[in-house]
Amino acid sequence: MKVKCLRVRRAVAGKRRVFVFDASGFITGLDSLLHEGEIYTTPEVAEELRGAEVKRRCETALSLGRVKIESPEPEHLEAARKAAASTGDLFKLSKADLSILALTVMLEGRGLRPTLVSEDYAVQNVAEHLNLNYSSAVGRIRLEVKWAVYCPSCGRSFQPSLELQTCPVCGEKLKRKAWKRRRLKGET
Ligand SMILES: [Zn+2]
Repeated sequence: MKVKCLRVRRAVAGKRRVFVFDASGFITGLDSLLHEGEIYTTPEVAEELRGAEVKRRCETALSLGRVKIESPEPEHLEAARKAAASTGDLFKLSKADLSILALTVMLEGRGLRPTLVSEDYAVQNVAEHLNLNYSSAVGRIRLEVKWAVYCPSCGRSFQPSLELQTCPVCGEKLKRKAWKRRRLKGET
């Protein structure tokens, strides 16, 4: 498997580098990070790592004590869920996606400054909204997007919310479109 190098911010001298990995982080990032920093992930992501190759690498890292598996507290999951609902990304996110966002929030609460490593656009978008540090092998998003939810059948639009999946008027499955974009400064 070809492993790309991660573009990560240089750590402040003397500070521990802490990463939170989703499944894609283990696929693209593990080798380059194996000898520097601490890697955190959640039980949900560990469960996702079904591919034999990825699982083997993860287990190697685990056995070396490089990967810590932790569950975020309900309050951090709630913070992640709320942020995802407000950007309109919530229904794009799996339980594992929400868990790593919540774990990153939790680690920040401990005074760490973890880098969330994910290839997932929706995860990055919510991370941006939560002002979390994030990175991926293919680069960071350049735009933060707010999504509008609309019904493709009757054209009504709705506030993104936790519960709303189908149009209350015609029962059609709702779609989403970007209604607000904010260009992000800094590195890509
Ligand atoms: Zn409708």
